[in-house]
Amino acid sequence: MAMTPHFSRAELECKCGCGLARFQPGFLGALELLRVAYGRPMRVTSACRCAAHNARVSPQAPLRSLHIGDKETRPGHQGTLAIDIAVSGEDKGALFAIAWRQGWSIGWNKTFLHLDRRVEIGMPQTTFEY
Ligand SMILES: [Zn+2]
Ligand SMILES: [Zn+2]
Repeated sequence: MAMTPHFSRAELECKCGCGLARFQPGFLGALELLRVAYGRPMRVTSACRCAAHNARVSPQAPLRSLHIGDKETRPGHQGTLAIDIAVSGEDKGALFAIAWRQGWSIGWNKTFLHLDRRVEIGMPQTTFEY
């Protein structure tokens, strides 16, 4: 089942097997716009997470992660606002540049980019390294 023209539900739902796929209004539209502008496949390693799964994979931020889809972690947060994309080489710089222009906040990791729409809940756009 497709959730956007380029992303299936299986790619975007919680990886723990619970099937949660709940996103902030506007998030999936922004993701599709990013994919179209980038023009290449995007390999999703994590998008929606239930709070229990997030606590397992992100113990340093068990209740604050913007990946969480089933709990409000900040005012205005109604669903997942973040996605991690495995990307390397020159594709990584290209995706970073396009995502930044489109208002995504970006976490730079050796093996992936964390992209989030924190601007949708009134938080300033930012970039950081893991
Ligand atoms: Zn789950
Ligand atoms: Zn992330």
